[in-house]
Amino acid sequence: MIYVKNSEQIEKMKLAGRITGEAILLAGEAVREGVSTAELDRIIRHHIEKCGAKPSFLGYGGFPGSACISINDEVIHGIPSPKRYLKEGDIVKIDVGAFIGGYHGDSANTFPVGKVSDEALRLIEATKESFRKGAEQAVIGNRIGDIGHAVDSYVKQFGFSTVKDYVGHGVGQKLHEDPSVPNYGTPGHGVKLCRGMVIAIEPMINAGVSGVIQLADGWTVITADRKLSAHYEHTVAITDDGPIFLTEVK
Ligand code: MG
Ligand code: MG
Repeated sequence: MIYVKNSEQIEKMKLAGRITGEAILLAGEAVREGVSTAELDRIIRHHIEKCGAKPSFLGYGGFPGSACISINDEVIHGIPSPKRYLKEGDIVKIDVGAFIGGYHGDSANTFPVGKVSDEALRLIEATKESFRKGAEQAVIGNRIGDIGHAVDSYVKQFGFSTVKDYVGHGVGQKLHEDPSVPNYGTPGHGVKLCRGMVIAIEPMINAGVSGVIQLADGWTVITADRKLSAHYEHTVAITDDGPIFLTEVK
């Protein structure tokens, strides 16, 4: 069931979105060699709670952190740890949700740690740009398949691949709502987009094959070929004025 939001509800979602975006920004500023992933998680939780919100991920399905922090070949759902330190050349994905006023925000970004390989930089840039290509399609009257096709066809030209086993989703009073928003698809197919739909568009892009494996910790998802993966996500409201990125802070 898709919950369409009216303009008042979208206004409320802007607050959840802003806090989410700010938390990622602050964590991103703290990314450097020697910082533990638990420290990034602490920064995120502190900001979200300071704003009177709750970290959406904390306790979600038993998840122990406030953010998912995934390094290099880890695609998503990495568990923050005081024993896991960032190293020069790593790429780190930070995925955050904040809940306030009855609504969630959901956003992710990938940060380089110091100087990284040219391939890592290309992957990060292509992932971010694939989000933009997908989001351009998030307009009234288009379909979900238009978004996924735009993401997938953009990254293919670099030899990269989109993760198929995990997808974007609706966002609202629940963190994960209908519809699913895959990063692949057929133009003109799938759920029709209408005014007031709010969706997380979140390309998860692998440098190598699209296959992924879940680790024995029950959370961390890694690439099947252990090559790099990048992630970029915003919560996007579909409006008469086009897509609005609720979690983007300037
Ligand atoms: Mg997310
Ligand atoms: Mg999401």
